[in-house]
Amino acid sequence: MPLELVTEEKRSVNLSEARVIVAGGRGVGNQEGFEALRELASALGGEIAGTRVAVEEGWISADHQVGQTGQSVRPELYIACGISGAIQHRAGMMDSRYIVAVNRDPRAPIFQVADWGIVGDLHDVVPRMIEQIRSA
Ligand SMILES: Cc1cc2nc3c(=O)[nH]c(=O)nc-3n(C[C@H](O)[C@H](O)[C@H](O)COP(=O)(O)OP(=O)(O)OC[C@H]3O[C@@H](n4cnc5c(N)ncnc54)[C@H](O)[C@@H]3O)c2cc1C
Repeated sequence: MPLELVTEEKRSVNLSEARVIVAGGRGVGNQEGFEALRELASALGGEIAGTRVAVEEGWISADHQVGQTGQSVRPELYIACGISGAIQHRAGMMDSRYIVAVNRDPRAPIFQVADWGIVGDLHDVVPRMIEQIRSA
């Protein structure tokens, strides 16, 4: 049987240089939810990232993980969607210039480090953010 040479396209992500990062956690819920986050990142010219839970769920690859055992980032803008703000995650994103958090739980620890907090369901909030950015 002849051997076939297959070249796999691999884009490794260097999140440390991103100016805008849109990150998702367990609250995103599924792969489809991450597509909306990708759209938001794209509208802002940014990159996508996630928590360890998002990686473990298979919604995003491990090279996109932010935190103690992932990458450390310091973008101008970090938008955390459906992320509780565990210390291991915060360790990797605390130095972001501005942090926006979207979480339906007003007591989520991420709000303690956020410059702006939106209490709500990200499935409602993220599409509205995309709409606003596109029309601006
Ligand atoms: C040694 C060690 C190393 C670790 N390293 C890392 C690391 O590098 N990076 C990392 O991220 N974690 C790491 N972790 C895991 C960390 O402790 C947390 O478990 C993890 O960060 C939690 O991820 P999460 O915020 O996605 O999930 P959760 O803590 O489950 O939070 C989900 C959040 O989503 C919200 N939510 C749910 N549905 C919605 C909705 N529809 N709209 C809006 N909000 C919603 C909830 O209110 C909740 O606050 C590590 C743990 C250990 C022990």
